[in-house]
Amino acid sequence: MTEKTLIIVKPDGVQRHYVGEIISRFEKKGFKLVAAKFMRIPEETARKHYAVHEGKPFFEGVVKYISSSPSMVMVFQADGVIDMARKMMGATFGFTAEPGTIRGDFSCSKGYNLIHGSDSPESADFEIPIYFTPEELADYELSDEKWLYGKND
Ligand code: UDP
Ligand code: MG
Repeated sequence: MTEKTLIIVKPDGVQRHYVGEIISRFEKKGFKLVAAKFMRIPEETARKHYAVHEGKPFFEGVVKYISSSPSMVMVFQADGVIDMARKMMGATFGFTAEPGTIRGDFSCSKGYNLIHGSDSPESADFEIPIYFTPEELADYELSDEKWLYGKND
């Protein structure tokens, strides 16, 4: 089933020069980039995005972190992209994320973990419209789709 996921290279990822590396990993995997916006996420937007964590001890900290400096906000599309992207990101904390994952390779922090990715279809449906209008999501075919998915008929 084709799915879309919200991926954000967070402020530490931009500051530490990992935008290209992170996009490159997803591109090479075969995900289709359908939207991108380089922006400083307003505090109110960060509060909405992380509303599910409101009241938790780290909530104010994550809101401050996400709105502190620009981020690269993107939507990627592929069959099963949500779970694949989460696996490629690695576990939440950099110091426990497996080597080979984005967080495992480039972060040793708890909260400053470089990247956000939607964790379920419901989260993606909630998160994508916070950043993009439907018109901003490009609808197009990748020329190598049959090679990506092995649909040669
Ligand atoms: N976070 C934090 N401390 C915590 C848990 C989370 O600073 O104890 C931050 C971290 O940046 C994380 C974000 O809050 O990526 C959202 O937390 P979540 O549990 O949803 O992790 P994720 O889905 O990003 O792996
Ligand atoms: Mg989460």
